[in-house]
Amino acid sequence: MAEDCLFCGIVAGSIPSETIDENERTVSFMDINPATAGHALVVPRVHSADLLEVGTEDLEATVLTAQRLAQRMKDVLDADGVNLINACGPAAWQTVFHFHIHVVPRFEDDPLKLPWVPEPGDPDEIAATAAKLRGDNG
Ligand code: 5GP
Ligand code: ZN
Repeated sequence: MAEDCLFCGIVAGSIPSETIDENERTVSFMDINPATAGHALVVPRVHSADLLEVGTEDLEATVLTAQRLAQRMKDVLDADGVNLINACGPAAWQTVFHFHIHVVPRFEDDPLKLPWVPEPGDPDEIAATAAKLRGDNG
């Protein structure tokens, strides 16, 4: 448990939450600022700051719990779809630095919008970035 970590406090039960699922490795609870009705968060019990720090077994367990909750949202909330969202780093909108996955049930008439405008990119730029990511010449 990390000192001053909100989600460690929720896992420990010292900070109240609407918990919806628990297993050996993960705890899931409702987000207090829901993007849609049913917006939940899945966290590993063990503290890590983000996607790049979380251990592989906790990452796997968190994704599997998120999948289980996605199915439950379809079954119980009649969700039309589900988004899994992870923010890694402040530039990516992370605000709580205990690794977590948002499970956001989606409804045909909900107000959420794609946060980017899909427009064709410059093929040379895409290829150059792909080369960097593959590690070409490096
Ligand atoms: P992030 O911005 O790091 O991707 O996600 C953090 C999430 O935690 C936000 O969606 C925010 O609404 C939620 N959150 C912040 N404080 C609390 C809290 O005290 N309780 C619960 N249940 N959720 C919180
Ligand atoms: Zn923590």
